[in-house]
Amino acid sequence: MDKISQKIFTAEFNRFVLGDITAQQDLDAELMPLFSQNFLRVDVPLIQRRIRSLRELPKKPQLDSIYLSTHGVRGVMRYPLIGGGTIYKIPVFSFPMTDWKDHWTATYLVAAGDTLILVDTGTHLSETSLREGLEVVSRVYDEPVTLEDVEHIVITHAHFDHFGGLRFAMEATGAKLWVHEWDAHTLSNYPAEMTKGRERIKRFLRQSGMPGPEIETFMEMHVHGKADFPGYPVTHAFRDGERIAGGMEVIHTPGHCPGLCCLKLDDVLLLGDHVLNHVTPHQFPKIYTSGSGLLNYMNSLIKIASRAEGIRLGLPSHYGDIHDVERRSMEIMNEHNHRIADLVKDLDRPKSLYRITEDYYRFRRGREITGYERLMALEEIGAHMEYMNETLGIVRFADGISPESDPEALVRYESCP
Ligand SMILES: [Zn+2]
Repeated sequence: MDKISQKIFTAEFNRFVLGDITAQQDLDAELMPLFSQNFLRVDVPLIQRRIRSLRELPKKPQLDSIYLSTHGVRGVMRYPLIGGGTIYKIPVFSFPMTDWKDHWTATYLVAAGDTLILVDTGTHLSETSLREGLEVVSRVYDEPVTLEDVEHIVITHAHFDHFGGLRFAMEATGAKLWVHEWDAHTLSNYPAEMTKGRERIKRFLRQSGMPGPEIETFMEMHVHGKADFPGYPVTHAFRDGERIAGGMEVIHTPGHCPGLCCLKLDDVLLLGDHVLNHVTPHQFPKIYTSGSGLLNYMNSLIKIASRAEGIRLGLPSHYGDIHDVERRSMEIMNEHNHRIADLVKDLDRPKSLYRITEDYYRFRRGREITGYERLMALEEIGAHMEYMNETLGIVRFADGISPESDPEALVRYESCP
């Protein structure tokens, strides 16, 4: 979430929840430096129009006003369901990133009959913003709720920006915890799973050809903020096709994460990170996360596209809403196929994954990647090479050395003749 949106969120919260009528007056002054630093990537007139219409809103805006149905308040959006329930989107701050943006996760509050369900929690840093969002639900949308009222917590998948907030949310609520059976272990035995995962990542990085000192730096980054997550017993480990809390139907879509599930409520799909706007969800080779891998992911795209008829709205965990889930799924599939073609073009001789990844981002995408993104880039391209080898059969291991054959050896890929 960029800093401009975050500033607007704060101004909206201060005005409509705390009743501070001067909130938007300071907004212009606060946004000016961000506009001048980022004018090339920001649509300033669009934001100015939003701020002007924010100014004209009454103290208690109508729920069906255009402003609320377009922007919500502090990013909190309300979606009434045809079956009578309501979904609220509550974006939460997950972790800091750069001067320009931070990582945020959209959590969802489902009010179905008398039951309150929280879908995802953000991280251990998300408590303040989740509580703020719930205040917006109470004060602006007239649905009086607190975190303590939540009876069920459903986790879409076991990635830290979705479940790390269990640390405060489980203590506040004592809620029943739901997750797909393939991800239940990660939540309940987190410290042990984390240690095992670290070993797999280290081996993967060694085999990819990453220099030793760089591997150590990444291993430190990987543990950051996650070390003292204790793990929580899962009340219900669910499966594909099950109906869970609030009558939500589970659609298991492994790939981005083994236990990732989309949740269907009437004609709305909660998508987790399976289908996102603007980006292709991050991929991992299944060699270090079984249940991941590009083949599983592509199959899950077809699965969700084939179930998207009659779906009016897709609600993802990051970025904007998706109105045509089938179309967006096919676009993502297409982007992966493009990436595969680009990878083939550059495989003119045997290369390590480290080399392939550097070349791809430098020559095909025109960017030098730095920091934690370098690890993510290796995972992403690693997932592609694995798929091109195992499923498509268009690349093979040079010198007959595969990731399985020797845990210490450097693995190199070459094109099949
Ligand atoms: Zn995520």
